[in-house]
Amino acid sequence: MAAVTPSRPIPAGADEYTVGTVYHRALDDGRIECTVCPRACRLREGQRGLCFVRARSGDQIVLTSYGRSSGFCVDPIEKKPLNHFLPGSPVLSFGTAGCNLACRFCQNWDISKSREIDTLSSAAGPEALAAEAARLGCRSIAFTYNDPTVFLEYAVDCAAAARAAGLRAVAVSAGYINAGARRELYAHMDAANIDLKAFTEAFYEKVAFASLSKVLDTLEYLVHGTDVWTEITTLLIPGHNDSDAEIAAECAWIAEHLGPEVPLHFTAFHPDFKMRDVPPTPPATLRRARRIALDAGLRFVYTGNVHDPEGQTTTCACGEALIVRDWYRIDRYAVSDSGQCTACGARLPGVFDGPAGDWGPRRQPIRIAAPSKTPTPSEHPAPTS
Ligand code: SF4
Repeated sequence: MAAVTPSRPIPAGADEYTVGTVYHRALDDGRIECTVCPRACRLREGQRGLCFVRARSGDQIVLTSYGRSSGFCVDPIEKKPLNHFLPGSPVLSFGTAGCNLACRFCQNWDISKSREIDTLSSAAGPEALAAEAARLGCRSIAFTYNDPTVFLEYAVDCAAAARAAGLRAVAVSAGYINAGARRELYAHMDAANIDLKAFTEAFYEKVAFASLSKVLDTLEYLVHGTDVWTEITTLLIPGHNDSDAEIAAECAWIAEHLGPEVPLHFTAFHPDFKMRDVPPTPPATLRRARRIALDAGLRFVYTGNVHDPEGQTTTCACGEALIVRDWYRIDRYAVSDSGQCTACGARLPGVFDGPAGDWGPRRQPIRIAAPSKTPTPSEHPAPTS
């Protein structure tokens, strides 16, 4: 069994899965505030933040899930979803535990809302993870299933190891992160899918306990302030964020503030976590949303979590069907190795490097290394913020 050896300092008395961080500040009342995300958890000794994986230890905030994972899996890159980033390629995907949002409709709540003892049964250091990804033929590694914002230090080290191994790094995030942490996290990323959960502050406040404006800040930062290839996903929840007016407002904002070439994915909700009383999203709702987005001038709009070849096809401005997909399977690929339409030569926005991969829709769980010891239940007091 391999131990994880972080390159970051391990605070005195902590286990090898706990590392120091720089994102905190002392308050006059003796608490320490975590500055990673706008949640701004203010912690007394031993307390954990809302995300559960960051905690007060002495005069700092530590990350307690470095090197620990809920499991590793090779997925199609289209599952993130990213449709303009190394199409057809396999991506080594993993998450840890905890989340800095509290969405009532969470589709990954078993990971995001679990306490780490429940889920963190796998462990791997950054170099081992990158080496395994390369050995398996992956083109990238993805921080997904839960938000890399809360395990930033581990994600950054894994992304650096991936790049050193000739791979790329992908973040799947809600984009609820402060500017300093955001700068560090995305300096190490090559692509991101940002979950834009709705387009009203009321939804963010009541259903996700977060703020829309902070997420929009992150989107503008990524598109205009970095080279990170960025796509957006909106999970449409019947009766909550799927009105024509709200979808139109979201699409108009994207067109005006990000530009029409940023891909947008509308995906289908299934009843989960604290929203089991809401029905699944009808495919007709996804098609309606896509129509609204196309009418708003967005060039690349996709439906997800359903079979819909028309809604999942990438089309060139000349009319050529460049990438025909059915869910995660590519049925036609008419893009050159460097990303040009094979009919008219126009460049397709995105990251293209060689022919399409042939990973297909497979999802392959893998084991990288066993944990060096069995995690013990936390003795920390209840979360606070
Ligand atoms: S939710 Fe986690 S990352 Fe966000 S401020 Fe609280 S402790 Fe920090």
